[in-house]
Amino acid sequence: MRVIATPLLFWADGMTVAPTLVVVHPRVRGDAGLMAHEAVHARQMREVGLLRFWWWYFTCPAFRLWSEIEAYRVSLLFQPSAARHFARVIADGYLLPVSAHTAERLLRAATGKAPELATAKAPGGAAAGHART
Ligand SMILES: [Zn+2]
Repeated sequence: MRVIATPLLFWADGMTVAPTLVVVHPRVRGDAGLMAHEAVHARQMREVGLLRFWWWYFTCPAFRLWSEIEAYRVSLLFQPSAARHFARVIADGYLLPVSAHTAERLLRAATGKAPELATAKAPGGAAAGHART
């Protein structure tokens, strides 16, 4: 995976553009948790296809929520005390119709035990909330 650090990425710490290309802000270059988060998105892109990923990410809040909850669960492994912070970021930073409380509940839910994710379906019938790899 190629990683490019640039201050032009002013709206986020990192962004997975494609499965093999991640852009990060220089202030977080080398952040293992961020790279693990972006690696989840890279895998998601490989699983659903790059164009499909971006189409669904921008047009389907349920897909965006699923992809970020899955990625932030991995972030949480690196920063176990940051669940509240990540929940606030998810609730406020991704134009999602979820409260920070709900986002935190989804983050903390064991995979397969979160009714909202277990029953949510990503477009195309892929089950949202499937086991994280
Ligand atoms: Zn993300």
